[in-house]
Amino acid sequence: MGLTTAQFIKDYKAAALHLFADSLDNLSTLQQYQALAFVVKGYYAKDWVQTKANNEKHHRKQVYYFSIEFMPGRLLGSNLLNLGIKATVEAGLERLALDPVTLYAAEGDPGLGNGGLGRLASAFLDAMASVGMAGHGNGIRYQYGLFQQRFVDGYQVELPDDWLRDPYVWETRKENRAVIVKYGGQVELRPRANGSLQAIYHGAEDVLAVPYDTAMVGYRTGCVNTLRLWAAEPVPGRAHNLAEKARVNAITQILYPDDSDNDGRELRLRQEYFFVSAGVQSIVTHFKRTHADLHLLPQFIAIHINDTHPAMAVLELMRILLDEEEMTWEEAWRLTVATMSYTNHTLMTEALETWPESMFAGLLPRLYQIAQEIDHRFRAAHVQQYGELLVDRSAPIANGQLRMAYLAVIGSHAVNGVAKLHTELLEQSVLHDFYTLYPARFNNKTNGITPRRWVQLADPALATLIDATLGPGWRRDPRALQDLRAHADDPAFLAALNAAKLANKGRLAAVIQQQLGLYVDPSAMFDVQIKRLHAYKRQLLHVFGLLDSYRALKAGEDRPARVHVFGAKAAPSYRYAKSVIKLINAVADLVNHDPAVNQKLQVAFLPNYGVSLAEAIIPAADVSEQISLAGTEASGTSNMKLMATGAITLATLDGANIEIQAVAGAENMVTFGLTATEATRMQSAHTYNARAVYEADPRLRAVVDMLTDGSIPGIASEGREIRTELLDYNDTYFVLEDFAAYLAANRKLDALWADPDRWAQAALANIAASGQFSADFTVQRYGREVWHVLPEQPIGD
Ligand SMILES: *Cc1c(COP(=O)(O)O)cnc(C)c1O
Repeated sequence: MGLTTAQFIKDYKAAALHLFADSLDNLSTLQQYQALAFVVKGYYAKDWVQTKANNEKHHRKQVYYFSIEFMPGRLLGSNLLNLGIKATVEAGLERLALDPVTLYAAEGDPGLGNGGLGRLASAFLDAMASVGMAGHGNGIRYQYGLFQQRFVDGYQVELPDDWLRDPYVWETRKENRAVIVKYGGQVELRPRANGSLQAIYHGAEDVLAVPYDTAMVGYRTGCVNTLRLWAAEPVPGRAHNLAEKARVNAITQILYPDDSDNDGRELRLRQEYFFVSAGVQSIVTHFKRTHADLHLLPQFIAIHINDTHPAMAVLELMRILLDEEEMTWEEAWRLTVATMSYTNHTLMTEALETWPESMFAGLLPRLYQIAQEIDHRFRAAHVQQYGELLVDRSAPIANGQLRMAYLAVIGSHAVNGVAKLHTELLEQSVLHDFYTLYPARFNNKTNGITPRRWVQLADPALATLIDATLGPGWRRDPRALQDLRAHADDPAFLAALNAAKLANKGRLAAVIQQQLGLYVDPSAMFDVQIKRLHAYKRQLLHVFGLLDSYRALKAGEDRPARVHVFGAKAAPSYRYAKSVIKLINAVADLVNHDPAVNQKLQVAFLPNYGVSLAEAIIPAADVSEQISLAGTEASGTSNMKLMATGAITLATLDGANIEIQAVAGAENMVTFGLTATEATRMQSAHTYNARAVYEADPRLRAVVDMLTDGSIPGIASEGREIRTELLDYNDTYFVLEDFAAYLAANRKLDALWADPDRWAQAALANIAASGQFSADFTVQRYGREVWHVLPEQPIGD
């Protein structure tokens, strides 16, 4: 947009006066931020209105991405970038003697998710707007986001994330778009004159769902889509006692701080139905206002089920089409399947969501009837051809449980995994029966990231260097980064690349100093592992590697200086993960205070990992640790973010690591460890003996013994617990098995580090290849192959 610095300053001053009745320099930093955000909101408001009007006028197909988690990160910087006014606004701020970085940092970071799942959903919204696709988010406006993490005596302590205490400037409450969501009661099916059945509800509990819309601004496309988050409120004008009010408010009060196992509590079920019902109702209502015939629904609407939490969208759409639109079952089913698509995010069967029939039937009686009918018809349709056994294994209701992943597959026309390996494993194992029944539904969509946030915004040093080398074309089409390869033998470019990285490490060193009181030397190798704390992600293997270095240094061996940077939250109820957190902090205490090693080895565990902290860490990483047991990490996305800023990946052959290796080149990455096939074979043949591995390797024995022999102070019970998991429970995730290979891989990294030019070449190869992991391309693949929408302006032209 054609904004001048002078116009911006005028607008900004007016906003300060309008909002706070004062001049800019009298405002607090928070108020200055709020006034700035208000101005920026004004700059895209017309485009937002226009985008909606265009979608309607041209009857464009709309995608609705249903997700129980979104992690948008701070929006001010990204909105300025995407509007193309960042430089203008920053020049204006400078003239007003205001520091842009301070203002950006005043924004809260909505943690409406646990990790990868929520971040992916937000990356997709950013990407859809940036390729000009009509795609919107549908989710929950949690009053409290993911807990704030502190460390007290090395232990994780969880504090509530009261992120709405300061008003969230980007959202708009749409009271006039509120809908009613019904729970419980009884359903009576009364025959209508035409023979269909009318569902009449008795004693249902009504809850008001109020939408809050946030603009998703596309990167220089003029396309502004919507993230719609729903809040639960008592229905106005009806009598409510305090207990009833509390019950209603509880629905959208907290994010479940659990990203893998579902505790089956009824409140979670209420949450899921809440945003699904509100979302589907509002889609159908809006569709009827703008289209003559509901039978055209799949031609103009795609609903995407991100993981199983929104799987009951299948049931809710059926309910509306049957009960409110009086369609026949066959017609309603045809439209539903054609509208829905589903992404599976996990291979862990124990994480596949199920609900006890009795709980489901009590809370959602009509949906339960519909699920029963789907189950009945599914069995009848396939039993002859495939037999009782397969049908029973794959039916949506069995053993007293509703199986949401199976329901999602049966009710969708497309099902995808999130990396090549993940999709293959889905087809071969977790969803194999469905692959037999519906092979054409299965497809792979490898996850993606948004280089706008991770490179353009978070790594200005690198972005400036790339601009100077290639011009700005890569900013719109990151595939252009391939052209950096031409500079692989240019010593000046390699030196500049190393210098940019060093500057970023200096910035992170300042954060570490400020947060942990720890001085780290920016010239050391920064070895980064940032992700949720989970046994399968194997932070423990990383700790064992660094304990081995500790021992080697103590014994007089020389190693290049390394700073191990961790960021990770553990689910509050996940005992083992919390013990690993305590272990990492205890090891940090040990090595950071030991003058015999701390010139060469340091550990910085930064608390409260989230999108904003990731933005500080990622540009400063030399090494990206992606060391999950092969066959357990569906895709991973921090692996992509870190390669994009030039980190060298230290990885198992898991998830998207395999695809990263394919494009970056095996010589520019260090891989090690069991393959997924090997791990599965050892598991099913029961040939793994962790204790024997421990006994046979003296280096391994030494670090495992450190857990319990008192050499790491303060971990008596945690050390014992972890040792028990490894030796008595046979090391579920093969940490001991992969230990020797992990050490060898680390020595390869050390050798590479000794040659700064070669290191820079490997970093360059990663940056150059990273463009293809842009979520822009991922959503375009979904658009073509799953949602059947085409963007108005395909990127790259
Ligand atoms: C990218 C991201 C993740 C996902 O990390 P993985 O290493 O792929 O598990 C989790 N949390 C945040 C804040 C992220 O930005």
